[in-house]
Amino acid sequence: MSKPKVVILGAGYGGLVTAIRLQKQMKASEMDVTLVNKHDYHYITTHLHMPAAGTDHHDNARVAIADLIDERKIHFVKSTVSQILPEEKKVVLGDRDLSYDYLVIGLGSETETFGIPGMNEYAMSIKSINSVRFIRQHIEYMFAKSKMEPKRKEYLTFVVGGAGFTGTEFVGELADRIPVLSRTYDVDPSTVKIINVEASPSALPPGLPEDLVEYGMEVMRRKGVEYKLSTPIKECTPDGVILGNGEFIRAGTVVWSGGIRGNSLLQQAGFDVQRGRVKVDECLRSYQYPDVFITGDCSIVMSPEGTPYPANAQIAVQQGYNVARNLLYAVRGRDLKPFAYDFKGTVASLGRGEAVGLLKVKKVKGKFAALLKKVIDARYLYLIGGIPLIWKKMIFKQKTTA
Ligand code: FAD
Repeated sequence: MSKPKVVILGAGYGGLVTAIRLQKQMKASEMDVTLVNKHDYHYITTHLHMPAAGTDHHDNARVAIADLIDERKIHFVKSTVSQILPEEKKVVLGDRDLSYDYLVIGLGSETETFGIPGMNEYAMSIKSINSVRFIRQHIEYMFAKSKMEPKRKEYLTFVVGGAGFTGTEFVGELADRIPVLSRTYDVDPSTVKIINVEASPSALPPGLPEDLVEYGMEVMRRKGVEYKLSTPIKECTPDGVILGNGEFIRAGTVVWSGGIRGNSLLQQAGFDVQRGRVKVDECLRSYQYPDVFITGDCSIVMSPEGTPYPANAQIAVQQGYNVARNLLYAVRGRDLKPFAYDFKGTVASLGRGEAVGLLKVKKVKGKFAALLKKVIDARYLYLIGGIPLIWKKMIFKQKTTA
């Protein structure tokens, strides 16, 4: 009898952890597993704000998949998925089709611009190694350009749309980078503006208590960050942003971190989606196609209270564990185990040596929180690559070229 075919799409947090757990736990004869990813590396999305601002090298935010996957157990295919055909139990890649018995979709998210005119065209967003290399180069280019055209003050104005997790972490790093760039390009740092624009009345990741938000915003303000809260961006233009109150901010750089939606391939495949994401059953399967598991930012998991859990790396990793176990149970003819999210807490970096967060209900801030953030990062590296990966990534880091 032929082995059941499992295809995993995306080597992000959800997909990669599914593959790694399977390779640890399955017998080689049990199933035929293929992992498909656009790149031959896994990128650590939660680290991307640093290379985007230029405070770290992008190589520190990625790991070669070959270093994580045992190719005797998992076939790795570097390719871009162009179509998912759940009725035919098939996926279409650039150069071939793959059929499956079970499919795991972990293709991550796309930028949600909420239909704001010009946002797709003129703003940049932090979403991949390629995008952060581009942002970093652009920032430096603006510094260089400001010296060639000193009257164009807007070259040194940086607008970040969205003050949630990604926006906050990026702004913290950018503020840390300004003194270095100012020295390199002979720029007076007081002429540089960082403006974080947010539609909701509060900055920092949702769910943090008010005193931590205040603390975080104070840290950022001390670094020179200006907040515009309760202020939606109405339009992005080649020269800046128009705010809801009509104000125009002329800026050489606009980075949009205002929201995400699920990968558009799901909607194209006919899945019922809400902002591109699929509501899954208690075992993380599609209601329409029970042989399809969906993880991470592509999925919507409801809490027992009936509200969706926020999309983040923590839930994607836990989903990966659950999906791997349920795939094993499925091929072994056992009942599947429902997913139960264990929220361990959240810590947002505010730049060098500063962070704020909640561990379950315990508040953390300052240097201790920043240290904790490093521990969380190290724990993830340990989970996917053991001590050798921690050693390689945290001890022998690529030097930033700043
Ligand atoms: P991803 O990790 O995004 O992986 C998707 C994978 O699919 C990628 O490898 C991609 O290359 C691949 N892919 C996409 N399309 C295709 C295709 N067509 N063909 C082949 N491959 C494809 N969450 C936290 O919990 N804590 C944090 O501190 C935190 N910080 C963040 C900071 C930033 C700057 C950002 C951007 C996000 C942050 N998040 C954080 C959110 C977190 O990173 C995401 O929720 C998480 O990455 C989702 O994992 P995923 O498995 O769904 O997808």
